[in-house]
Amino acid sequence: MGATGPSAIVIAFMLAFPAGTLVEYVLHRFVLHARSRTFIARRHRLHHKSNRADSLWGDFRDFLPGMTPFCWFGFLHSTTAGLAFLVGGVAYVFLLALVHTLSHNRPRLVFWMRPNSHVLHHGETPRHNFGFVTRFWDVVFGTYAKQGTGRGTTT
Ligand SMILES: [Zn+2]
Ligand SMILES: [Zn+2]
Repeated sequence: MGATGPSAIVIAFMLAFPAGTLVEYVLHRFVLHARSRTFIARRHRLHHKSNRADSLWGDFRDFLPGMTPFCWFGFLHSTTAGLAFLVGGVAYVFLLALVHTLSHNRPRLVFWMRPNSHVLHHGETPRHNFGFVTRFWDVVFGTYAKQGTGRGTTT
């Protein structure tokens, strides 16, 4: 059933990254910012209030369950691809936790996003900029905003 050699492993592992950016966007926009007062939505509201990231490990542990509905997709191809996609997913969640922690503590280190999307999301544009790692899906789905409408001059 299809190629299960080293190339399948590499491709499945790599695919977990773009897939991860989409899952991150969808969960953040529709689950964490859901109107219903679920436990996760309430927790996320508190995170917006405090505007502080958990530790890298704390974020990793919190974000990891989000991939469970999606992380088995590779098994539709083969066991090898399934495992590689799974490992790629875990690696992506680690990257996500790292970028989230950095966006709060050292936003300048997230050098590929200026201004930092997550800083904007916590500040001027809470209904926009749901992507942490990339603003790609925000641009695609029309939720990217470079800054708030009222330039933040009032305090
Ligand atoms: Zn949020
Ligand atoms: Zn945050």
